[in-house]
Amino acid sequence: MLPNKDPSANLVLPQLPPELEGLGSIALNLWWTWNPRGKNLFKSLNAYLWKESGHNPIAMLKKMDSKTLEALTQNETFMREYRYVYALFEGYIKDSNIYAFEEPLPIAYFCAEFGLHHSVPIYSGGLGFLAGDILKESSDMGLPMVGIGFMYPQGYIRQIIGSDGWQNGTNETIDKDTAPIERVLDEKGEHFIIHIPFIDPPVYAAIWKINVGRVTLYLLDTDIEQNDPWDREISSRLYTPDMNQRLRQQIVLGIGGYRVLEELDIKYSILHLNEGHPAFALFERVRSFIEVEKLSLDEAIKRVQKTSVFTTHTPLQAATDVYGFDIMGSYFGDYWERLGMDKEQFMHFGINPDDPAAGFNMTVFGMKMCSHRNSVSKKHGEVTRRIWKNIFPNTPEDQIPIDYVTNGVHLPTWMGDELFDEVDKVLTPSWTNIQDDPDLWHKLTDLSDQKIWDLHYTYKVRLVNFIRERVRQKWANEGIDPLVAMAEGVMLDPDVLTIGFARRMTSYKRPDLILHDLDRLEKIIKHATMPVQIIFAGKAHPSDNPGKKIIQHIFKTAQDPRFQGRIAFIEDYGEEVAKYLVRGVDVWLNNPLIPMEASGTSGMKASVNGTLHLSGLDGWWPEGYNGKNGWAFGCEPSDDAKDAVALYETIEQKIVPVYYDTQNSTLPQRWITMMREAMMSIAPRFSARRMMKEYLEKFYIPISKTLQDEENQTKQGENHA
Ligand SMILES: *Cc1c(COP(=O)(O)O)cnc(C)c1O
Repeated sequence: MLPNKDPSANLVLPQLPPELEGLGSIALNLWWTWNPRGKNLFKSLNAYLWKESGHNPIAMLKKMDSKTLEALTQNETFMREYRYVYALFEGYIKDSNIYAFEEPLPIAYFCAEFGLHHSVPIYSGGLGFLAGDILKESSDMGLPMVGIGFMYPQGYIRQIIGSDGWQNGTNETIDKDTAPIERVLDEKGEHFIIHIPFIDPPVYAAIWKINVGRVTLYLLDTDIEQNDPWDREISSRLYTPDMNQRLRQQIVLGIGGYRVLEELDIKYSILHLNEGHPAFALFERVRSFIEVEKLSLDEAIKRVQKTSVFTTHTPLQAATDVYGFDIMGSYFGDYWERLGMDKEQFMHFGINPDDPAAGFNMTVFGMKMCSHRNSVSKKHGEVTRRIWKNIFPNTPEDQIPIDYVTNGVHLPTWMGDELFDEVDKVLTPSWTNIQDDPDLWHKLTDLSDQKIWDLHYTYKVRLVNFIRERVRQKWANEGIDPLVAMAEGVMLDPDVLTIGFARRMTSYKRPDLILHDLDRLEKIIKHATMPVQIIFAGKAHPSDNPGKKIIQHIFKTAQDPRFQGRIAFIEDYGEEVAKYLVRGVDVWLNNPLIPMEASGTSGMKASVNGTLHLSGLDGWWPEGYNGKNGWAFGCEPSDDAKDAVALYETIEQKIVPVYYDTQNSTLPQRWITMMREAMMSIAPRFSARRMMKEYLEKFYIPISKTLQDEENQTKQGENHA
């Protein structure tokens, strides 16, 4: 029904002179976020505005008047670079295929959040970054994928720590007119709006899109004037604790999201649900198969099961969304009739055999309605098969059909630009096309110790400068207490061995494990010749008071003069802070309660930059650790006291002496050897490329084959008839 016409860059940036129209196209595609020449082109326009706009090219260009832009067209140096970058961009977009696969059918990828760049705050953490990296990698590989997600007008909480160490938050509001997002327009040229069924009074969602290279991400936005105030709030923030509103959110995402695909006439054949939040799309798919393709209910369900993939991310039953039968009935009462089901049959899909009275469980639903299921690391696979074994009665635990695809990270996004350039020089040209080949990475032996160390030191200085500059701003604006300034990192020293701990601040991640024995920690930190400093960052969920208490504990410890400013807490952990940290610290610490970490990806981001991973053997680490590329410590089941001792011993005996061992040269050679080993062993195997190839091989291609076989059979049948 919709002519898939994009508003041209002209509409968003009317003042761009015709000679620079391509700049608008680049600005409206997040391609530039992982292509340094694109990024640098914008920066070269006006470094001050670039920074002030939060690295958002649309916001920046809007602030520039047409005269300034006109003048640029006379600047030969700029124009030459602009034409070059535009050619790169166009070449990338038009390149029809990089990775040779056997025509998998188009994939619709649903997720409640997408972490793409800090100028689009529609994410909260790991789940979102995984989804964002999947879209970017699919674009690089030329996979036919479409993303469906939510527009959160209030973004996510911006974290502000009070001088008492308590986390306060303000909502970061998205300015829709300057975010790098576009309105999808209907045939009248107006903002395209869909009606979400089953909610009374009716709810509408406006549709936005974000270009992620060659992949399009569609976002649903309920904050529009057609909706009642209560409904406008549906998509206003991520993961509301109000279960009624949360259910409405998930109806909008799953059912509304499916409608978007139908109404835009986007043809796709595989549905991939990242976590349970968007799982209602499965019911909508059943409805569509019944009404559009005229299948029977049974056939429709079987077809949905055969063509849908469900990825689970939690190792705990308690962490899944469960909706009471009453509230489910109040929304879906008419729906099951429409599907030709009765209440019992409908609810059956969400009933957890371990707790049948609890209600409708979204993870159980995903598992039952998708025959392709995966967890996100090998270890998480074992845990998942164990905790959900009763969904598959009479199946031995090791044969339960839940596979795993260990997460990976998008290398061009997470590796430092300068490091990426150096890797480019020593590996094969076009190495990114075979980036998941471990043999390729052996060539990293050609990257010299000096080069590795110089780059790492540069990143470390940048991190320290970034932190100090933030504190300086805060000092200038608010006149903060000197102890707060110290706790926020003004005394950090780039020459000191630095441990980073940055992730969601919540009990199971044990952020304050390293503070277990402060006297022992003090000795480590204040060693006369081999000192150590620790940088923490991370947000607590707004309703997680124990998490906020942990932050306060860390912040107060950082304010304690006995640690001499060598413990710091950095506010407002997000994608930008993460990039500084994973490249700039020396050691990346992770110590969750085992087996609570399904995968974890920040340690991968650190390792591909040569930052060494120090972690319990949980999540991806049992697959990644090889004895030479980082350290493993701690016991299973976890024990705080024992784990803390193991942590101190590892730092004292295995980490500090290696880092400060420069006896035979000016460089810590043993350390650098480990850094190289980390990059070599971890970059190929934990790249998003390897991950996407596994999704292809385990799920997308087999589904495509089945569908094609069926189609051929139908054709043959028709020929015979
Ligand atoms: C990668 C990333 C995460 C997820 O990392 P974990 O190891 O799962 O904690 C969370 N937040 C940000 C900002 C990230 O970049």
